[in-house]
Amino acid sequence: MSITDEVLKANETYAGSFNLGHLSLPPARKLAVVACMDARLIVSQILGLRAGDAHIIRNAGGIVTEDALRSLIISHQLLGTQEFIIINHTDCGMLTFKDEDLRSKLQKQTGTAAVAPAAFHAFNNLEENVRQQIQKVRSHPWIPKHISVRGFVYDVKTGRLQEVAEAHAVSSVV
Ligand SMILES: [Zn+2]
Repeated sequence: MSITDEVLKANETYAGSFNLGHLSLPPARKLAVVACMDARLIVSQILGLRAGDAHIIRNAGGIVTEDALRSLIISHQLLGTQEFIIINHTDCGMLTFKDEDLRSKLQKQTGTAAVAPAAFHAFNNLEENVRQQIQKVRSHPWIPKHISVRGFVYDVKTGRLQEVAEAHAVSSVV
């Protein structure tokens, strides 16, 4: 049995005792989360969320890409979320390679240059990466300034979230 068949079997069991059909479309706790797709992160459990509570947007790295922004804008503007959380984590796969290395490896392997993805968004500094994602959200003209945007690093060894302080503009020393 393939894994797909296995999970379909699990869904039969799930649907058998399903009782969440009453939930409404807008997230009850008005929260949207951007998190890495890492299999060890069960975002709802990490944050104590239940079905219907929050939007959870995931991709490799927990990056605020064009598509993540699309989702966040819809989340706020059409579905009323008021707080955004960005979660990166220790031991992330995105710390283990460089965009240009993966790109040239794949080009060599396949003999084909590809137009997309334009970037893989690998990074080498976890906290700095979180700060950049916060800035990308905050600076977007369609995301109002009153939306709370906070970023965290999740420790895969302890289960704990550590908040990443925002970078403050440093005045140059004369
Ligand atoms: Zn990751």
